[in-house]
Amino acid sequence: MRKAFASVIMILTAVLCVCIFFARRSRKPIGRNVAALIAALIPPMIGNLLIIMTQDHLVADIGSYMYFIGMDLIMFFMARFTIRYCNIERYKPLLYVIYLLLAADAIQLLINPVFNHAFDHEAIEFDGAVHWRLVPYMGQTFHRVVIYAVLAILLIRYTVMTVRSPRVDAERYFVILLAMIVTALWQTFYIFSRTPIDRSMIGLGVFGLLIFYFALYYRPVRLLNRMMAGIVGEMPEALFFFDTNGKCIWANEPGVSMTGILPGEFPAAKEALEKRFGDVDMEDEWTRRFVEGRGENARYFLLQRKPVQDRRTPVVGSFLRIRDDTEEQRKHARERFLATHDPLTGLYNREFLYEQIRHLLSSQPDRRWLIIFHNIKNFKIVNDVFGNEFGDHVLRRVAAWISEDMPEDTVYGRLAGDTFGVCMPADQFDEELIERALTGAVIRQDSFEYAVQIHLGIYEVVDPEMDVSVMFDRARLALSTIQDNYQKHVAWYGEEMRTDVIRRQQLSGQLTDAIAKQQIVPFLQPVTDRNGTVVGAEALVRWIHPERGLLSPAVFVPVFEENGMIAEMDRSMWRSACEILARWNRDHPELFLSVNISPKDFYFVDVSAEIRNLVKEFGLAPEKLRLEITETVMMTDEEKHLAVINELRSAGFLVEMDDFGSGYSSMNMLKDIPLDALKIDMKFLSRSSEETKTRRILQMIVGLAEDLGLVSVIEGVETEEQYRLLAGMGCRLFQGYYIARPMDVDSFEAFLEQRTGLHQ
Ligand code: C2E
Ligand code: CA
Ligand code: CA
Repeated sequence: MRKAFASVIMILTAVLCVCIFFARRSRKPIGRNVAALIAALIPPMIGNLLIIMTQDHLVADIGSYMYFIGMDLIMFFMARFTIRYCNIERYKPLLYVIYLLLAADAIQLLINPVFNHAFDHEAIEFDGAVHWRLVPYMGQTFHRVVIYAVLAILLIRYTVMTVRSPRVDAERYFVILLAMIVTALWQTFYIFSRTPIDRSMIGLGVFGLLIFYFALYYRPVRLLNRMMAGIVGEMPEALFFFDTNGKCIWANEPGVSMTGILPGEFPAAKEALEKRFGDVDMEDEWTRRFVEGRGENARYFLLQRKPVQDRRTPVVGSFLRIRDDTEEQRKHARERFLATHDPLTGLYNREFLYEQIRHLLSSQPDRRWLIIFHNIKNFKIVNDVFGNEFGDHVLRRVAAWISEDMPEDTVYGRLAGDTFGVCMPADQFDEELIERALTGAVIRQDSFEYAVQIHLGIYEVVDPEMDVSVMFDRARLALSTIQDNYQKHVAWYGEEMRTDVIRRQQLSGQLTDAIAKQQIVPFLQPVTDRNGTVVGAEALVRWIHPERGLLSPAVFVPVFEENGMIAEMDRSMWRSACEILARWNRDHPELFLSVNISPKDFYFVDVSAEIRNLVKEFGLAPEKLRLEITETVMMTDEEKHLAVINELRSAGFLVEMDDFGSGYSSMNMLKDIPLDALKIDMKFLSRSSEETKTRRILQMIVGLAEDLGLVSVIEGVETEEQYRLLAGMGCRLFQGYYIARPMDVDSFEAFLEQRTGLHQ
């Protein structure tokens, strides 16, 4: 009997040791508390075993000390465990009272050998052997009071927790409460029955196992079920559970309302689902999208079906979740639209257009494609003069025009500011139609009316792999060749344009060197009076290029005007003119020289100071150096430029208005700019086919100059007829191929000799 009991205790102890091991390794924070509590259960059990097994009084005593003090330890660790388990850190002070009581009890027990006040053992006969029965004294009563008091406190705590916690939580407190009550009753029964073999030790061991299981492994099923049901019920997505036969056995609230089944009529859900979403048969695992309706009203669903597995059976059923993510999809679509479209015009933005073009080209690489660059001329002026609102309106109108009747396989968008881009199949492009549409295009809004000038630069794709931005660069380059053309709206890119750009870059790189090497020289074109006497000349720049020969200013002047190097070139020309005049001081003191001043010069040099210093340096009379300006000088910084002109005139220089009649505001300029001469270019007037009309205009201009006290100079005179006509009109000075072409200085001087010879 004893032996059987002893073996049970031993096995229990071993099992508890295993529990301690696992409890310590548990990832849960309470694991250590559980381990300590279980460890505390072992000494009383061993102690009890000693009492039962021994014949020796001393060993029985030791067993009892282990048992009693062990009980204090159990209560100590039980209290600590409880604080953790119930999550009631705020009760820590109570814990100290418990510690104090237990410590006092342990001390009074330890001094029992001295005072013999707690207990002793008496030998009795049991089961044919000596058994040491406990004889309790006052100290032992104190011990019991302390243990029961602590036990009571803990029981109260667990009772309160059980009652107060929500029902789903109560279970975990209740199981501990129950384990404690059963263990305590069992224990109490043995203590008071005074049966020699204390079977309650088994209860203590079992208690350890229960704590181990409940604290670390037990997951309250009811709690889990409720939580799951709560979560599932709260979910916005519809959920349907199916058994292995594919019958719907449950659906959550959104599922019920989605299928419109009656509450509880779950099996009906399947038919409703298949009617709406097609086959939802529950065989495999799958996810799919479903779009219901079209356009603005389209609704998007995500259907996902998964089998439910269990450790024993591979498939115990399956569930289907259906999420209505219409809002998400719309938001997505909105965001995507914003990221890929220009907010003002609604067209693609540049990045997205490029992407679309790349896509288009690579999908049909064998087709002929055009890359078209659109630009609105002078758009900045539209904004400045009519305001941004009208500017926006213009952009929207142009965008609408571009989007109109676009053929298939065409993509277009807004590149930036006032530029748009299109990629279309070459066979769809109708140049004539476009020219017609763009000629005389007008944009109106309320009282505003704007004659919009749109130019198209076109690049035909040769290599579809080429960077789209490079293609547009080429189309833009083509456009730049007709930028100032009001008649032509479409320009095609040619390889020569690119070589032209390269050539322009080369020229810019060579200019400084060319000036130093005197490759930049003035050619002189004579100016005569009505009698044919040469009175002066215009200095026209030429570049004697070592590789390309004699270059006309048309080749390089626009290049330098664009990059500002024109000032460097003009300064060199002005100096050359002064050198010539200084030489003529002796031989031809009556001759003047006209030099050209580019509007761009005003930005890069102090024109007035520069020219005044030059004549001073060469000791010239200022009126010998005539200055040709164009009306475009007055287009910007009017005040500043006017001041420069005034300054030069008061210093004695004669200022001529070049190319008079070529611009649109010539007449207007006359009253603002102080001038000495008007230079009228025949070629601007001969454009008109009606000769009588041309004649009348010329007559008017010459008369106007006369009235304003200005010298009228006519240039571009090519025939004797023209010469006679203009002379008859009263024109003062003449320049043109009829008299002579521009020539180098030596030739000019030879020409002079010959002319004077003729006249003599
Ligand atoms: P521009 O100042 O109006 O010069 C007159 C142009 O008309 C010259 O061309 C001249 O050769 C040309 N021409 C003269 N008579 C006739 C004629 O009877 N018929 C025709 N069809 N043309 C005639 P060029 O020398 O090629 O100069 C072109 C333009 O280059 C000049 O026009 C001027 O704007 C610019 N340019 C020339 N030299 C300079 C310069 O030193 N500095 C600056 N900034 N520009 C210059
Ligand atoms: Ca000129
Ligand atoms: Ca001119």
